Amino acid sequence: MKAGTDDPTLKYVCRNLWCRCPAAQPLEKCPRCGLAANFLLISRLRKAHIICGLLLTLGGGVMWCLSFAILENNEWTIPKRTPFWAFLLILGLGGLPIAGGVSLAVFGREWFMRMILRCFGWRQA
Ligand SMILES: [Zn+2]
Repeated sequence: MKAGTDDPTLKYVCRNLWCRCPAAQPLEKCPRCGLAANFLLISRLRKAHIICGLLLTLGGGVMWCLSFAILENNEWTIPKRTPFWAFLLILGLGGLPIAGGVSLAVFGREWFMRMILRCFGWRQA
Protein backbone atom coordinates (compact mmCIF):
# COMPACT_ATOMS: atom_id res chain seq x y z
CA MET A 1 0.00 0.00 0.00
CA LYS A 2 1.32 3.45 -0.85
CA ALA A 3 1.70 5.98 1.95
CA GLY A 4 -0.20 9.17 1.28
CA THR A 5 -2.68 10.01 -1.43
CA ASP A 6 -3.06 12.43 -4.31
CA ASP A 7 -5.62 14.46 -2.37
CA PRO A 8 -3.77 17.54 -0.97
CA THR A 9 -6.29 18.01 1.86
CA LEU A 10 -5.34 14.64 3.34
CA LYS A 11 -2.11 15.64 5.06
CA TYR A 12 -2.06 12.91 7.66
CA VAL A 13 -1.71 9.18 7.55
CA CYS A 14 -2.14 6.40 10.11
CA ARG A 15 1.04 5.42 11.97
CA ASN A 16 0.17 1.76 11.53
CA LEU A 17 2.47 0.38 8.83
CA TRP A 18 -0.23 -2.08 7.77
CA CYS A 19 -2.96 0.53 7.64
CA ARG A 20 -1.74 3.99 6.50
CA CYS A 21 -5.28 5.30 6.38
CA PRO A 22 -5.26 8.92 5.06
CA ALA A 23 -6.96 11.73 7.00
CA ALA A 24 -7.36 15.51 6.81
CA GLN A 25 -6.29 16.01 10.44
CA PRO A 26 -4.74 13.88 13.20
CA LEU A 27 -7.76 11.91 14.36
CA GLU A 28 -8.32 10.58 17.87
CA LYS A 29 -8.78 7.11 16.53
CA CYS A 30 -8.06 5.52 13.18
CA PRO A 31 -11.33 4.66 11.37
CA ARG A 32 -9.70 1.75 9.59
CA CYS A 33 -7.50 -0.05 12.13
CA GLY A 34 -8.88 1.42 15.38
CA LEU A 35 -5.55 2.49 16.90
CA ALA A 36 -5.78 5.63 19.04
CA ALA A 37 -3.87 8.90 18.45
CA ASN A 38 -1.62 7.50 15.80
CA PHE A 39 -1.54 9.92 12.89
CA LEU A 40 1.60 11.17 11.17
CA LEU A 41 2.15 14.15 8.89
CA ILE A 42 2.71 12.75 5.40
CA SER A 43 5.49 15.26 4.66
CA ARG A 44 7.37 14.12 7.78
CA LEU A 45 6.78 10.47 6.92
CA ARG A 46 8.17 11.06 3.42
CA LYS A 47 11.34 12.58 4.90
CA ALA A 48 11.75 9.53 7.11
CA HIS A 49 11.15 7.33 4.05
CA ILE A 50 13.90 9.06 2.09
CA ILE A 51 16.42 8.84 4.96
CA CYS A 52 15.59 5.18 5.68
CA GLY A 53 15.58 4.37 1.96
CA LEU A 54 19.00 5.93 1.43
CA LEU A 55 20.43 4.07 4.43
CA LEU A 56 19.01 0.77 3.14
CA THR A 57 20.41 1.40 -0.33
CA LEU A 58 23.78 2.29 1.17
CA GLY A 59 23.77 -0.87 3.31
CA GLY A 60 22.88 -3.03 0.32
CA GLY A 61 25.58 -1.32 -1.72
CA VAL A 62 28.19 -2.09 0.94
CA MET A 63 27.11 -5.74 0.89
CA TRP A 64 27.47 -5.81 -2.89
CA CYS A 65 30.94 -4.24 -2.71
CA LEU A 66 31.93 -6.82 -0.09
CA SER A 67 30.67 -9.69 -2.20
CA PHE A 68 32.56 -8.43 -5.25
CA ALA A 69 35.68 -7.94 -3.13
CA ILE A 70 35.36 -11.54 -1.95
CA LEU A 71 34.92 -12.72 -5.54
CA GLU A 72 38.04 -10.87 -6.66
CA ASN A 73 40.23 -12.02 -3.79
CA ASN A 74 38.83 -15.49 -3.47
CA GLU A 75 42.29 -17.07 -3.44
CA TRP A 76 42.86 -16.10 0.17
CA THR A 77 39.52 -15.11 1.66
CA ILE A 78 37.37 -18.15 0.92
CA PRO A 79 37.88 -21.86 0.32
CA LYS A 80 38.30 -22.80 -3.33
CA ARG A 81 35.07 -24.75 -3.57
CA THR A 82 32.71 -22.14 -2.24
CA PRO A 83 29.50 -22.84 -4.13
CA PHE A 84 28.15 -20.32 -6.56
CA TRP A 85 24.87 -20.05 -4.66
CA ALA A 86 26.77 -18.50 -1.75
CA PHE A 87 27.54 -15.50 -3.95
CA LEU A 88 24.00 -15.39 -5.25
CA LEU A 89 22.85 -15.35 -1.63
CA ILE A 90 25.09 -12.39 -0.79
CA LEU A 91 23.99 -10.57 -3.94
CA GLY A 92 20.37 -11.29 -3.08
CA LEU A 93 20.84 -10.14 0.51
CA GLY A 94 22.39 -6.92 -0.77
CA GLY A 95 19.94 -6.47 -3.64
CA LEU A 96 16.85 -6.75 -1.45
CA PRO A 97 17.64 -3.70 0.74
CA ILE A 98 18.67 -1.78 -2.40
CA ALA A 99 15.33 -2.57 -4.06
CA GLY A 100 13.49 -1.87 -0.80
CA GLY A 101 15.46 1.31 -0.11
CA VAL A 102 14.96 2.76 -3.60
CA SER A 103 11.23 2.02 -3.66
CA LEU A 104 10.91 3.47 -0.13
CA ALA A 105 12.85 6.67 -0.87
CA VAL A 106 11.46 7.28 -4.36
CA PHE A 107 7.92 5.90 -4.22
CA GLY A 108 7.18 5.70 -0.48
CA ARG A 109 6.50 1.99 -0.73
CA GLU A 110 6.95 0.22 2.59
CA TRP A 111 6.93 -3.45 1.60
CA PHE A 112 10.54 -3.87 2.71
CA MET A 113 9.86 -2.52 6.22
CA ARG A 114 6.76 -4.72 6.52
CA MET A 115 8.79 -7.70 5.37
CA ILE A 116 11.51 -7.04 7.96
CA LEU A 117 8.90 -6.68 10.73
CA ARG A 118 7.24 -9.91 9.59
CA CYS A 119 10.60 -11.67 9.87
CA PHE A 120 10.54 -10.74 13.55
CA GLY A 121 6.97 -12.02 13.85
CA TRP A 122 5.45 -8.53 14.02
CA ARG A 123 2.32 -8.74 11.91
CA GLN A 124 0.44 -5.71 13.17
CA ALA A 125 1.93 -2.43 14.44
ZN1 LIG B 1 -4.97 2.89 10.95
